[in-house]
Amino acid sequence: MAEPASTELETTTKPPVIYRCKKCRRIVASEENIVSHQHGKGESSFKWKKRSGNPWEKEKQPVDCTSLFVEPMKWMEAVQEGHVEEKLLCMGCNARLGYFNWAGMQCSCGAWVNPAFQLHKSRLDECYM
Ligand SMILES: [Zn+2]
Ligand SMILES: [Zn+2]
Repeated sequence: MAEPASTELETTTKPPVIYRCKKCRRIVASEENIVSHQHGKGESSFKWKKRSGNPWEKEKQPVDCTSLFVEPMKWMEAVQEGHVEEKLLCMGCNARLGYFNWAGMQCSCGAWVNPAFQLHKSRLDECYM
């Protein structure tokens, strides 16, 4: 009973990552809270097709997601209060960490995430445990 191999599943052992508020260092999410999404349309096929350029040209970086998406969490007070969309403020220092919208939002890579609980990477510190 073999499962169909997903191209995404590269089972390498990575150290677990946690995300802290950059200002007050409160932990706002850990790796297991992250909701992954497929990067903008056909990005992987891109890699194969865009071979015509200068071979010396460095491989173009894939479109980077400037934010990460997580599942709704306890510290998101606006979520608990029943808002449909609202800013996500750090519970520790009230810094704006992101935004959420139950109807979905678009990531910087072009992918739609639905529902979306978006945290700006620039507001977070990524730490390895
Ligand atoms: Zn993205
Ligand atoms: Zn904070």
